[in-house]
Amino acid sequence: CGIVGYIGHRDAYPIIIKGLQRLEYRGYDSAGIALYDGTDINLSKTKGKVDDLKNKSESSISLKGSLGIGHTRWATHGIPNDINSHPHYSNSGDLVIIHNGIIENYEAIKKELTTRGYTFESDTDTEVLVNLIEEVKNKEEVKLGKAVQIALNQVIGAYAIAVFDKQKPDEIVVAKLGSPLAIGIGKDEFFVASDASPFIEFTNNAVYLEDEEMAIIRLGKEIKLRKIKDDSIA
Ligand code: GLU
Repeated sequence: CGIVGYIGHRDAYPIIIKGLQRLEYRGYDSAGIALYDGTDINLSKTKGKVDDLKNKSESSISLKGSLGIGHTRWATHGIPNDINSHPHYSNSGDLVIIHNGIIENYEAIKKELTTRGYTFESDTDTEVLVNLIEEVKNKEEVKLGKAVQIALNQVIGAYAIAVFDKQKPDEIVVAKLGSPLAIGIGKDEFFVASDASPFIEFTNNAVYLEDEEMAIIRLGKEIKLRKIKDDSIA
């Protein structure tokens, strides 16, 4: 029930782990992290506590990278286990997402995506959403931000999400409806979290997304805030 993300010049791993620990009060049953090491995404996730995630990550994956997202899950769709824990990949392996909340119409979307050849590893609604974003991105030939926007307009539910694309590792896209999402703006770096506690020592410049708002966070650029329902953006 917490999300943390980082993009910038520091090691993302300690920021994300510490951030998840600060969000532990929100309650959760599993935790996970995805780090982009410059070439690939390294993913580690587990049922249990952030300490379990720390032990698993430190013994099994490269902790390199200045782009990453982390999650604590309060299971709503699919039992608490390692596979259902977030982050979730899209079928291509390029997109990776974390999500708090519920996608109510995920079964209909899952069915539709299945007929288009998509497969699913987990029982979560979240894995359906990341593949819907991928489908829209490929079909409409749009950038990630636009794909997220179009996908969210097809979704009924509640969410705070953060997603990135390993083919475009200078960007994190976030969106909110119902669950909280804060963005911390530093110098050449950005933080994303359920509240400001994960980034409080790095910056006091924070933006809190409104419901039905999304942000395209790109290194070297101003944050682009968009209304999810405003479909006029490119
Ligand atoms: N509905 C998602 C799941 O069950 C996210 C739950 C959460 O808010 O952590 O995996």
